[in-house]
Amino acid sequence: MTRLSGTLRMRNLTLAALAATLMTSTSMAQTPPVKAPWDEAFLPPAPPWQGASQALIRDKTDPWVTAFEADPEHNFSPTYVDTRKWFDRLDAASPLIRIEAFGTSPEGREIYAVIASRDGAKLDPKKPLLLVQAGIHPGEIDGKDAGMMLLRDIAFHGKDGLLDKVNLVLIPILSVDGHERASAYSRPNQRGPRIQGWRNTATNQNLNRDFMKLDQPEMQALKRLQARYRADLYVDVHVTDGMDYQYDVTYGFNGENGVWNRSPAIASWLDGVLKPAMNTSLEAQGHIPGELVFGIDEHDPKAGFSDGGLGERFSNGWGAAAHVPTILIENHSLKPHAQRVLGTYVFIETALKLLAEKGGDLRAAIAADSALRPAEIPANFVADPKPAYTRAFKGIRYETYDSPASGRKEVRWLGEPDPDLWQVPFYGSKPSLTLKRPTAYYVPSYRADLIERLKLHGVTVEPLSAARTLPVEMLRLTDPKLAPRANEGHVQITVTQVKAERRDWTFPAGSVRVPTDQPLGDLVVLLLEPQSSESFFAWGMVPEVLSRVEYIEPYAIAPLAEKMMEADPKLKAEFEARLKAEPAFAADPDARLAWFYRRTPFYDDHHLLYPIAREN
Ligand SMILES: [Zn+2]
Repeated sequence: MTRLSGTLRMRNLTLAALAATLMTSTSMAQTPPVKAPWDEAFLPPAPPWQGASQALIRDKTDPWVTAFEADPEHNFSPTYVDTRKWFDRLDAASPLIRIEAFGTSPEGREIYAVIASRDGAKLDPKKPLLLVQAGIHPGEIDGKDAGMMLLRDIAFHGKDGLLDKVNLVLIPILSVDGHERASAYSRPNQRGPRIQGWRNTATNQNLNRDFMKLDQPEMQALKRLQARYRADLYVDVHVTDGMDYQYDVTYGFNGENGVWNRSPAIASWLDGVLKPAMNTSLEAQGHIPGELVFGIDEHDPKAGFSDGGLGERFSNGWGAAAHVPTILIENHSLKPHAQRVLGTYVFIETALKLLAEKGGDLRAAIAADSALRPAEIPANFVADPKPAYTRAFKGIRYETYDSPASGRKEVRWLGEPDPDLWQVPFYGSKPSLTLKRPTAYYVPSYRADLIERLKLHGVTVEPLSAARTLPVEMLRLTDPKLAPRANEGHVQITVTQVKAERRDWTFPAGSVRVPTDQPLGDLVVLLLEPQSSESFFAWGMVPEVLSRVEYIEPYAIAPLAEKMMEADPKLKAEFEARLKAEPAFAADPDARLAWFYRRTPFYDDHHLLYPIAREN
């Protein structure tokens, strides 16, 4: 996960030299590598664990044993190639399983889903569909190993009844290139698997920031798959970083515990139906389910928790805006890989059962939320400085000590469950901007790239077959500011003030009208309003409006300015007042001339004029 910064990366020189001799190459066979003596020795101990779910693990006498199960320590996850070979074998052997490729990665690997269904080639749209996605962050790969076991058990070990009323689509590895940048040194805070993939893609992008801008081939492929298989429940499987605690499977969703969100009926189903049943099921199998929280101070574990941010660039934020029930699983990084994989297996199996029993109610909730057309759309969530409430928390005991390395007190987690429940303040998020919902937007044809992304989102657009001049509202951006550094391959731009101007504007043929009266209308507003922190503009994708074109020579503007003052005493008075009020301005001849230039019709009218218009 790592939404919070400040994680120390273990990069000791001696270790690196040793590592080079033992580093596992990506082409290495399925045999687990030798456990290096320094592996995880610096991590806090994990409390001993036993659970009924351990009985799910099959041994080598089973011809369908997975690489995770076959490893004596259950601390191994197979490579991309070996995973695919295993699923190809399963596909060939079981009529319930089929593989469907849905994209190609930047390094040329096929991205595929494994579909478990009784329906054959075409899934029955009346059946609820569970989409489980593993490996958007490939080092956090529990969902792949759990998915392999469960699909095997569906195919051969009597769990085919799970498919009577539900379909399952599993993406074993979304970020396939990152999965193959594998080593024992990818996730220093995480207890296994021994070899882990890398967080970012081959193009160094974090796919769990790409749910709005849709830059990356992997994300674009996912959007096409989601359009083909509309998920009734979408589960995005991760592993945490951050503080220690007793919970092994934590999960969350926007709108949890009645907090405001864009899909209230869905959140109410997840809160009221899924959560109690899921927690009961996980506990019955020996797991310790908990709500998803992020410590706000790594040096003071009891200082408080936050919700980790609810932005639409994350899967859960996008899901709430798109009315797709989305759960973010964050298995706890300090728990052993095996415990996490088994918890994920139980989670997926329970989700299938819940959809079979109560999927109809969830569909009704999706329909209710998809029909909402709020006039005002809260945006730009920021951490609320006031705690929302205090929550009981199953903590792990810790102490602090003077670290000779850091020169300050560091936390030392002791690996023992604290018998006393902690009471810790929880800080939610709150919107810092309210956007108004216009009737529609117009996107000009020459931004075909943005139009394509809207379509990829599933937004309905109405193309103009011929050029049209329309009365619209255009936005003049008053204070655009470039970010000081690049983020996810973009230089972000913020604008806090815009001025609306009524204009008659000509949109060329191929431009599109984007109505907000559609299920994805909220998403459209968040993508197209430049002040929205999740918009294309905010990602720096409309930087051309910042460039001003043409200029006027001093020998031309100076006499013109003098004529303007003669002709307009009010303008003259305004200028003179400015000279008096601002000595720096008065002492700057170019600034003085620029002041007049801006007030002539020669000045570039398109400068800072946002090219996407509103229809009100
Ligand atoms: Zn993650």
